[in-house]
Amino acid sequence: MSTTVAYEAVIGLEVHAQLLTKSKIFCGCSAAFGASPNSQTCPVCLGMPGALPVLNRRVVEFAIKTALALGCDVTPVCRFHRKNYFYPDMPKNYQISQYELPLAWRGSVGFAVDGTARRVRIHRLHLEEDVGKLLHAGTLQAADYSLVDFNRSGVPLMEIVSEPDIRSPEEAAEYLRQLRAILVYLGVCDGNMEEGSLRCDANVSLRRTGSEELGVKAEVKNMNSFKSVQKALAYEIQRQTQVLEAGGKIVQETRLWDADQELTLSMRSKEYAHDYRYFPEPDLVPLAASPHWIDEIRTTLPELPQQRRARFVEEYGIPDYDAAVLTASKPLADYYEAVAQASHESKLASNWVMVELLGHLNKDGRDITDSPISPTELAALLALLHRGTISGKIAKTVFEQMYQTGKPAELIVKEQGLTQISDQDELRRIVEEVLAAQPGPVADYRKGKVQSLTFLVGMVMKLSRGKANPPVARELLLARLKGEEPGGDG
Ligand code: ADP
Ligand code: MG
Ligand code: ZN
Repeated sequence: MSTTVAYEAVIGLEVHAQLLTKSKIFCGCSAAFGASPNSQTCPVCLGMPGALPVLNRRVVEFAIKTALALGCDVTPVCRFHRKNYFYPDMPKNYQISQYELPLAWRGSVGFAVDGTARRVRIHRLHLEEDVGKLLHAGTLQAADYSLVDFNRSGVPLMEIVSEPDIRSPEEAAEYLRQLRAILVYLGVCDGNMEEGSLRCDANVSLRRTGSEELGVKAEVKNMNSFKSVQKALAYEIQRQTQVLEAGGKIVQETRLWDADQELTLSMRSKEYAHDYRYFPEPDLVPLAASPHWIDEIRTTLPELPQQRRARFVEEYGIPDYDAAVLTASKPLADYYEAVAQASHESKLASNWVMVELLGHLNKDGRDITDSPISPTELAALLALLHRGTISGKIAKTVFEQMYQTGKPAELIVKEQGLTQISDQDELRRIVEEVLAAQPGPVADYRKGKVQSLTFLVGMVMKLSRGKANPPVARELLLARLKGEEPGGDG
């Protein structure tokens, strides 16, 4: 007889965010992405012996800003440590990072999954330098040769480590989305996972449901999108379940996500902190951010996603669901807010941004920042719709053309004569034509089949090529249907 053991997944994420400073963390070299290899280097970031690091003040400011946004305590005094290991893209053979005294700790990130509020605690937030980048030339199998680009060496990274509070791959992805939104709102990171400005290592273990003890974890690396984080975790949970069910043991190790095969592969057995021989960085003094400076930074905190979401509900009267979708990214929230303000039609604006615009952009894999329709242009379309100049149906056609051609709504409506027909005389002519052509449905309606009215309104719309004002057409039809046969509305 087999008994099924129910397992619960326990997940903790380590997120590395590249900070959007102009210069690197310990030298004055540019931290810009995409320059020709090794053009942004100096003795400090090349790891020359005797070169001395100087901490970038803006890096600390960005990290404190993030810490405050996450509700962390900023440690009164923190320091930097050397993390020793060998890698060809790191000439010093150590990385300057933080160890037992991080810049900040004990915060949290709140978000919702399927309508349920969740909160994941932040364990710590610390600073470190990035390392260089290896470029493998020729085929890797043939191992022709590799080149090193040190432009990335010394680029500032902020690592945010969560507590193991996450319980499913969906929650992990949602936590990451929320964290990313916060960083982008703060302007401290561009949040681009594909380009590696936001990287995530996912730790996952299983335990019997109901147990409080933590199981042995595996750490998965190499995911470069929210979807791959979610998929890698789902795969890993399934793999660990199989191992445990077969009576095996999970080994603590680092695994790589292979996006092509959609599986994780063992990369190396787990390294422990003591393997790195951490020791205090002798070339940097301890860092003590003054309470005055921290307060100053606090006053620069912008409105964060959750606050903006609540304000959208309050100020624009849209449902919380809409507000959540629209505040998921800062550019999207800015876009919506611009349309809502320009059109004074906040609910209509929310529908059109969420359904039409996002629908089109998602289909094309485009971002809101590449929208071919500006907020002002969309607001102009909504104004035409609201005033009754065009019908809802025509508005969709006009939207489609605006999206394809970039032409403004007024021009499209004018060029193609799409103005809605609300003029009674003109509509009455069309109504008469429909009544004459549809004796069957007319008779049905009079016999009490009310749905026939909807059909007849549809025929009026068709005959007018979508330009008839539907409520007016309906009224006229009703008047005629009832007027012809007094007392026939039973
Ligand atoms: P390591 O020293 O292996 O990096 P840490 O204790 O620093 O481990 O934790 C790294 C990340 O792994 C954190 O996000 C933490 O929440 C998570 N974590 C720790 N233990 C477990 C576990 N047993 N299962 C899942 N996640 C865990
Ligand atoms: Mg780790
Ligand atoms: Zn440099």
